[in-house]
Amino acid sequence: MEFARHLSEHPATAERRAEILKDPGFGNYFTDHTVVIDWTEGVGWHDARVEPYGPIALDPAASVLHYGQEIFEGLKAFRHADGSVQTFRAEKNAERLNASARRLALPELPVESFVEAVKLLVQVDEAWVPEGDGEALYLRPFMIATEAFLGVRPSREVSFRVIASPAGNYFGGELHAVPIWLSEHFSRAGHGGTGEAKCGGNYAASLAAQLEAQDHGCAQVLFLDPTDDFAVEELGGMNVFFVLEGNRLVTPRLNGNILHGVTRASVLQIAADLGLSVEERKFTIDEWREAVAEGTLREVFACGTAAVITPVSELRSEQGTMTFPGTGADAVWARIREQLLGVQTGAVADTHGWLTKLV
Ligand SMILES: *Cc1c(COP(=O)(O)O)cnc(C)c1O
Repeated sequence: MEFARHLSEHPATAERRAEILKDPGFGNYFTDHTVVIDWTEGVGWHDARVEPYGPIALDPAASVLHYGQEIFEGLKAFRHADGSVQTFRAEKNAERLNASARRLALPELPVESFVEAVKLLVQVDEAWVPEGDGEALYLRPFMIATEAFLGVRPSREVSFRVIASPAGNYFGGELHAVPIWLSEHFSRAGHGGTGEAKCGGNYAASLAAQLEAQDHGCAQVLFLDPTDDFAVEELGGMNVFFVLEGNRLVTPRLNGNILHGVTRASVLQIAADLGLSVEERKFTIDEWREAVAEGTLREVFACGTAAVITPVSELRSEQGTMTFPGTGADAVWARIREQLLGVQTGAVADTHGWLTKLV
């Protein structure tokens, strides 16, 4: 794909950028450019370009604004010690975007075009890739329905975009274990719904539960499947893992409602490499409670691109609080995290070929 280049005439000054990169937080600041590729039914993908970052002109009738035909991705670019910038399993994100596109009746984008778009943005905005420990440039590809039409059918005009945001530690400051809230009144997904698509609508549906969580001192919510023995599904934006006695790592199987996390898949591989026995299966809230009562539950942790791996200290609910061991730095989650971050940042050999050099 040929990309036109319209570079910004007023990028952030080096001083401003340095100030931002000192403490970027997560999702607060955006780089100087964006990559755009438009799609029109009957024409296909066209007008691939880099342009200055800025507001999008959209018709007020654009279908994304009314019917939520939108999907997105999240991946990171890491600065390595040799000065190169590398991204982690970008093809997986491209393939997942296409799986989400099929579910939301949006057009698929060739995997190579996705990777090219990401690469181009990182090359143009390379100065924004942070160099601090655990920091990265977070990349947010997304696709929206832009056709001005209020009838209900898939949009005939679509736009794919990539924006980038320098990212520090997701939860801010030191890595510490977090309490999570058990959602008992809300589900984020149902069978046959959009649970395994990465679409904005799933997040909109999770926010009321997140507010409930905040009222109980938690930043994250755990969802169950009330139609399947209250099997554990995932958090609002992270997959969940359990370490049981005997070096067993358990995570809910992909049941159609759960996001196919790239971090989840990588954790499963690393755990197998480390000699853990790995189980993808149904794990109910009752089994969880029993494991805590019997003392066979060793650790609970959550994972996703933004926060990598985060230990979970407690599950709070209207019935009370369950507290978990294994939040210390000698735990299984910490070993997996060290390997995963190590590969991403170049400190550990990339034996699975997970990195792609962007710069
Ligand atoms: C993006 C996302 C995840 C994590 O996926 P990664 O590919 O590991 O970043 C987990 N759950 C939900 C609902 C998500 O949207």
